[in-house]
Amino acid sequence: MLCCDEFSRFLNILESSENTYTIAGKAIEEISGLLGIGRVVTHYLLSPTPLNPEGCDSKQEIFLRAGGFSSLPPYERTYHTAEGGTATYSVWPSAAFLRPWNEEDKRDLSTVLDLIFLHDGRFRLIGKMKQATLTNYLTGLPNSGGFMMRIRQLFAEGRLKEYHAFSFNLKGYSLINRKFGHREGDAILKRYARLLEEFLAPEEILAHFGGDNFAALILRENVREFLNILNGTIVYGTVDGKRIPVRIQAVAGALDIDEMITEPGQVVDHCQLALQVAKNRISMPYFYVTDEIKARIYREKRISSHFHDALKNEEFRVYYQPKVDTKTYTMTGAEALVRWFWNGKIVSPADFIPLIEREGTVIDLDLYMLEHVCMDIREWILKGIEPVTVSINFSRRDISDPLLAQRILSIVDRSGIDRKYIQVEVTETTSEEETAKLIQFLSLMRKMRIDTAIDDFGSGYSSLNTLRNFDVNVIKIDRSFIANNSITKKDEIVLHNIVDMARELKIGVITEGVEHWDQLELLHKVGCYMIQGFLFDRPMPKSEFEKRLTRKVYELSELVEA
Ligand code: C2E
Ligand code: MG
Ligand code: MG
Repeated sequence: MLCCDEFSRFLNILESSENTYTIAGKAIEEISGLLGIGRVVTHYLLSPTPLNPEGCDSKQEIFLRAGGFSSLPPYERTYHTAEGGTATYSVWPSAAFLRPWNEEDKRDLSTVLDLIFLHDGRFRLIGKMKQATLTNYLTGLPNSGGFMMRIRQLFAEGRLKEYHAFSFNLKGYSLINRKFGHREGDAILKRYARLLEEFLAPEEILAHFGGDNFAALILRENVREFLNILNGTIVYGTVDGKRIPVRIQAVAGALDIDEMITEPGQVVDHCQLALQVAKNRISMPYFYVTDEIKARIYREKRISSHFHDALKNEEFRVYYQPKVDTKTYTMTGAEALVRWFWNGKIVSPADFIPLIEREGTVIDLDLYMLEHVCMDIREWILKGIEPVTVSINFSRRDISDPLLAQRILSIVDRSGIDRKYIQVEVTETTSEEETAKLIQFLSLMRKMRIDTAIDDFGSGYSSLNTLRNFDVNVIKIDRSFIANNSITKKDEIVLHNIVDMARELKIGVITEGVEHWDQLELLHKVGCYMIQGFLFDRPMPKSEFEKRLTRKVYELSELVEA
């Protein structure tokens, strides 16, 4: 009979590691002398499942005693597995064990086998979970997690440089789905994946990230052939029982992996960027990452990892650009524009705003800007300097925060300044969902008595609907409207009508980007007198702007064409 010591040693071993068969064998060894165990074999019989399409019929010897085992029939126990199959354990007595097992021995044996089965089941489950989380359900190929795991392995072994990496999509895949239906579309995708797999060398990797997004790591010497396959391969699709050939073409972003890749995560990022480029070029089905793209990724990584520290360190400063009423040549407002002072250099918004917009962190900057503008205005009031209304840019991304209006209001009110000194600039949106949110945000701002402006009006997505649907105080006509060297009669007519319509709707109009006298003349001709542009002032730091606040009227001699 098993005593406590051996049994607890047996349990300790079972708990110690993941390597289930080796561990089970070691654990059995611990009690094999006492129970006279000579050999243990498991037999798993599992039916096919989507995750394991072949099912399983496998025998495995997990323990064999050095002195051999007897030819007596084995003691057997069968268990039902979680996958709906069976696991049978057969235990033979050792050659030296002379008497047959009695009832007490069998009870001990059955306890031992119960525990081994539980131990095994636990690790099979962990294995299944790992497999499911690292594998694409449809094709059985590694998914992005599985792909990254392999990339990390190769990187750790110093072998990643032997490969080219690819991210690729299938051209017109939605068309195939429409033509064949989704089920057959999936089957075609699987056939395509199998075909690519057949091409691969054993140490190459093909991954399926879902949809028609694939990735691969291909050894340098096989790249040419792989690209040929991506360029066009025939698989078949079935319609009404008939096989129809389908030519599948891929478009790929590619990376020749070199020592510039210093961490595994960069591989997929690089390929994805190159893929975007490839998609916009008709002439070539693939595009290799250039040094320029690598430099951009490197810069963006630096920016996004430093961004929040920069906010804490107050590296962002508010620059102010005056808005001028050109009936009286008086500054009546200003726009707050961010400047990032980083390592002694100024980084312009164009270099980081799009990135932090994509990452969704731009809201932190916009609220920071609002807070600093409020503090500056308060300071000017305390100094006895009459401020002007300052507009702050809020990114389109910010609008998706349902609490944005509330957050703006609480910053303004907390600062103790009158709400009339703040205006919120937003740009038009593209999607219907965003538009609905923007309309709601603007009406909340109106209720809270905070002015709003539509920035870059006329630059891209704007339409007459903006004037109809958006409850705004001001539209800012984009500088592209007047930037042409030769402004045509048509431009003039459009501008004229925008200004007239806005006036009738009681919406103010300001034009930005005015650099030349002839632009100003044209704007006067169409009835727009509110101007922001280099002709009057460039964006300037707070100290300089403070001087402008004390002397709001412009002398004509001050105005210089840009
Ligand atoms: P925007 O809001 O349309 O700002 C006007 C931009 O035009 C500013 O560029 C300004 O310096 C520039 N500008 C003004 N007058 C003239 C002119 O006469 N000629 C020319 N060529 N340019 C002129 P800036 O400061 O580089 O900002 C670029 C854009 O970055 C802004 O366009 C805005 O969309 C964004 N941005 C700036 N600060 C912030 C901010 O704090 N938050 C957010 N979300 N976006 C900001
Ligand atoms: Mg603006
Ligand atoms: Mg603008």
